[in-house]
Amino acid sequence: LKEALTLGSDDINKLRDDLTTKIKENTVGAYIEQLTSTDISTSGSGIPIAIKDNINVKNWEVTCSSNILKGYISPYNATVINNLEKAGLSAFGRANMDEFAMGSSTDTSCYGKTLNPIDNSKVPGGSSGGSAAAVAAGIAIAALGTDTGGSIRQPAAYCGVVGMKPTYGRVSRYGITAYSSSLDQCGPITQNVEDAAILYDIISGHDDKDSTSANVNYDAVTPKLDANKKLTIAVIDNFIEQASSAIQKAFSKSIKALEEAGHKIVHKNMLDTGKILSSYYIVATAEASANLSRFDGVRYGNRKGEGGLKDMYVQTKSQGFGDEVQKRIMLGSFVLSSGYYDAYYIKAQKVRHLIKDEYEEIFKDADLILSPVAPTTAPKFGSFKTSLEMYLSDIYTISVNLAGLPAISLPVDKDEDGMPVGLQLIGPAFDEQTMFDGALSLE
Ligand code: GLN
Repeated sequence: LKEALTLGSDDINKLRDDLTTKIKENTVGAYIEQLTSTDISTSGSGIPIAIKDNINVKNWEVTCSSNILKGYISPYNATVINNLEKAGLSAFGRANMDEFAMGSSTDTSCYGKTLNPIDNSKVPGGSSGGSAAAVAAGIAIAALGTDTGGSIRQPAAYCGVVGMKPTYGRVSRYGITAYSSSLDQCGPITQNVEDAAILYDIISGHDDKDSTSANVNYDAVTPKLDANKKLTIAVIDNFIEQASSAIQKAFSKSIKALEEAGHKIVHKNMLDTGKILSSYYIVATAEASANLSRFDGVRYGNRKGEGGLKDMYVQTKSQGFGDEVQKRIMLGSFVLSSGYYDAYYIKAQKVRHLIKDEYEEIFKDADLILSPVAPTTAPKFGSFKTSLEMYLSDIYTISVNLAGLPAISLPVDKDEDGMPVGLQLIGPAFDEQTMFDGALSLE
């Protein structure tokens, strides 16, 4: 991306043509549209950036990889897309995703699965699996994804690329289809840390159109990147025990490398991951059940059912939403229903506050936290027999969203099968600068 920003318009056109050819040859299924119809899959004439299918691009179909939205054309650009265009970049290709960003494998998409470019028998991660696979396969210079509970960082880790989730409120959510509004953030997936900083700077900043956008001063991070800053980095001892031996090995190696580079390591403990997981899956599904109620056949996408209003609701939703999405709508409606609201939802919010407090305590003694991104490297397709098994693979990423913090996932090693191992650095809210600086020294 850094190099592409120095190109003139002729070279950018050539780049776009080359990329189109490469995309057509590639078979990992990273893109929903194989760029066969240029009218729907490219916007503007800038540096090409792949866009996850839940980010609105004017005149493009936006479906969140769900049958319920097939055929729905967006009437406007998300703020992040306007920001790209202002910087000479443009949307280029629709990246595949888990349906409505619910999942960790990109195999709940109504378009079929995306393969991990390193080993096609393995999942690319999710939900931004198309974005990560496109960058890893060399068929995108960079991509935008969204992260509600790890959906940028985990696919980046599985595919061996860099993925960054900004502080909640840093990047406008205007025009990004909501999954869980208090957790969602849009962020970059790139080939290296510096590119992530560049793309992050381009999409960030206050936006009046998003009431949760933070009205804080925004200083670009890229001009001040410093790979030599000496930092205190915390590791969460009770977290690491739950990771596979390959992840633990990479983790120890990285700690050693950080110490050798002059950083100080401190040891901490946190709330057990079971409580974090329960809190996340209550908050996320509760918000999802409210957000997805708008897809009822009246205003958006595919309408089904001929037998009156109730039949339309029932048929539209039961034919339009896939199994995992239906399951989460039911779970979310349940935890919000009277009688259960206090027992589940209110309790989950309390745990959420505890998590935030714990992070704040740790950041009194440390600049950053180093953590695994997932308990294992990319698993094979079909490894998870139940949804719960899949949810358990989110233990390291979701607390970051619950606390609204920035984090960056980057490849640091490979396992015995040659699959990438990614680790993440988590920073204090609105201190993306320190997080990027630390990431540079780990890269
Ligand atoms: N895997 C998590 C979930 O299914 C995270 C998804 C995301 O970040 N969009 O909710």
